[in-house]
Formats: sequence, C-alpha cells, structure tokens
Amino acid sequence: MSKRDYYEVLGVEKGASDQELKKAYRKLAMKYHPDRNPDNKEAEDKFKEANEAYEVLSDAQKRQNYDQFGHAGANGGHGGFDFNGSGFGGFEDIFGDMFGDIFGGGRSRRRNGPERGSDIRYRMTISFEDAAFGIEKEITINRSESCDECSGTGAKPGTSKKTCPTCGGSGEVKQAQRTPFGTMMNVRPCHACSGSGSIIETPCSKCSGKGEVNKKKQVNIKIPAGIDDGSAIRLSGEGELGLRGGPRGDLYVVIDVLPHKLFERDGNDVYCEMPITFAQAALGDEVEVPTLDGKVKYKIPEGTQTGTVFRLREKGIPRLRSKTRGDQYVKVVVEVPKKLSENQKDLLKQFAKESGEEVHEQRKNFFDKMKDLLK
Ligand SMILES: [Zn+2]
Ligand SMILES: [Zn+2]
Repeated sequence: MSKRDYYEVLGVEKGASDQELKKAYRKLAMKYHPDRNPDNKEAEDKFKEANEAYEVLSDAQKRQNYDQFGHAGANGGHGGFDFNGSGFGGFEDIFGDMFGDIFGGGRSRRRNGPERGSDIRYRMTISFEDAAFGIEKEITINRSESCDECSGTGAKPGTSKKTCPTCGGSGEVKQAQRTPFGTMMNVRPCHACSGSGSIIETPCSKCSGKGEVNKKKQVNIKIPAGIDDGSAIRLSGEGELGLRGGPRGDLYVVIDVLPHKLFERDGNDVYCEMPITFAQAALGDEVEVPTLDGKVKYKIPEGTQTGTVFRLREKGIPRLRSKTRGDQYVKVVVEVPKKLSENQKDLLKQFAKESGEEVHEQRKNFFDKMKDLLK
C-alpha cells in the first residue's frame, strides 16, 4: 500500500507555515484520538497517519528531507517515529502537550531521552559516463565525533557530571499555571541544565563541554551504474552523532550529473544527432556512430532523409539493479554543402539537369498541398 502525501494527510498546502501545520494537526488529533473513538480502527489509522505526518513536517530537517526525497527521505528507513502504532500517550497527555504549546511550554517531553543525530547532505558531481557505468569514489565529510579527550561526557578528565540540583536530573520543571481551563500543570525544560538533567562544573578543554568535536571523515561511495541526475544515495548511520546515546543520522549523497558533449539522456535512453553529407544520404554509406562503448559501424541506406532516426539497441544507459540497458537513438542531419568549388558546382548543375522534371515523392505531396492552398 502506498503512503499518502504528508501535506495531503494534514490538508495543508506544500508551503504551509509551522502555525498552519500545528493547527491542522490539532484538529485531526482531537477528532481522531483513540480515547474519543474507542474500538474504531479507521480513526486509529487516521490518528497514526496524522501523527506521522506532523512528526516529520514539524521538524525542519525532516521536512526538508521529505520535500526532497519523499517518504524514503523523511524516515530514512529507521522507522523512527514516536508513534509506531503501539501504545499512545493518554488523552491528557496529548492535550497537555498542546496546551503546553499554547502557553509557551514548548516541546519538552523528550528532552532527556536519546535523540537521533541529524542527517548530512553532500552534493557530488560526476561525469555522464560515470553515471552510466557506475564508479567508486571517496569523499571527505565534516561530521561530529565523540570527543576522545573526555569520552564524550563533556567533563574534564578526572571530573564528572553532576546531577542538576534544580530539576533533580529529570531535565524538566513542573509549574502550576492558571489558565481559562483551570489550573494546569505545565512542564518546561529546566533552565539550569538546558534540559539535559546534569551539569558540567569543569568542562573538557578540547570540546568546551559539548562532548563532541568536528572531524573530517573519509567515506567510500559506490555509485551504481545507471544513476540519474538528482538521485541520492543514502548511507545509513553515517550522519551526525546522536544525542544522549541516540543513533547517528544518515548521510545523503546527492548526485549531479554533468551534461555530455554529444549525448542527451532521457531515462535509460541516449539521444544524439549525427551530421552526414548530402552524398552519403543520397547514395547510402557505412558510417561510424559514437556510442558510450566507443564507435560502432552503421549502414545508412540509400535515400536517407534528414531527420531520420535510427536505433541502436542496448547502447543506452544500464538500468539500475538489472543487466539490461536502454537504447541509443541517432537522428541523422543531412548537411547542405556551403562552399563548393567550380567543378563541384558544374557537377551539381549537371545533376539538376539530369534530374530534369523528375519530382520526388515529398515534393510532389508538397506541391499538391500548395495547389490546394492557392485554389
Ligand atoms: Zn536541570
Ligand atoms: Zn571533550
């Protein structure tokens, strides 16, 4: 079953603002929440669908990936959604969150838990031929690595993190707040520890307490034969470091394919134009045609017209994950000679005289049509 478009799920435009997304999501969440629709499978599915859509579109990074790569880009194959179908938060839970949002509480719920690292995007330019036949390349990316000085803790070696005294290590502070709906418990991230639950008294000097440092990393990229311009290769788990033990993000290598001097590509087929002389067209000839595999011989039949297209089977681009290839189409362009010697001119005049009143098929049709037009 194919997944519905996330924007469609929420019923918003593609360029919808965060506010619009939130509004649309709330409406759906209130309508389809399982607590309000007990034993209603359809509502439950709708609820899950809306949650998943909002989870992706409300996260700038995930939204960008989704816009670019569709569903594959958004969840990166991790299936890492908070709502995976088993066990929802209670009704109060989700409403608490919403009112938290309304009254400025923000998304505090998961601040203390592991978080997946960000994805990295890398643009790579390759030649037309490399895209056709595949290539292996090493790239250097800049990404976060655990600081080896403090083993990622952020505390100077020999010292350790302390539990935050303000929140007692939970990373959250509860506050009672009067609202038009009555008194509500509002959960906010702890300011003393920025929601992490612990405080570093003596930060590591190498990473300034962040626990991670930027490092260059070499990654080997296998580009498959047949890849097209704008495609992306995903390397799972090669992105930025996760937070608090969360998994690394992914690395997306986006491929730009350079244009070719002779060939144009459409899907797996290759197109080119080939000029031939008037004499070759009229008399026929064996010509050499350029292909991705080098020159091949092709017999042009006598009386070939300009614009004629012939096909070379299996001379196109290899198909991804298949041993077959597309075809090459060659359009013949007959060139009319421009600079003629006196001798050549004489021969042509003789040729014209010889042809006399002889009228070829196409010209006959043309003149018939012209007569009709002038009637
Ligand atoms: Zn704290
Ligand atoms: Zn460090």
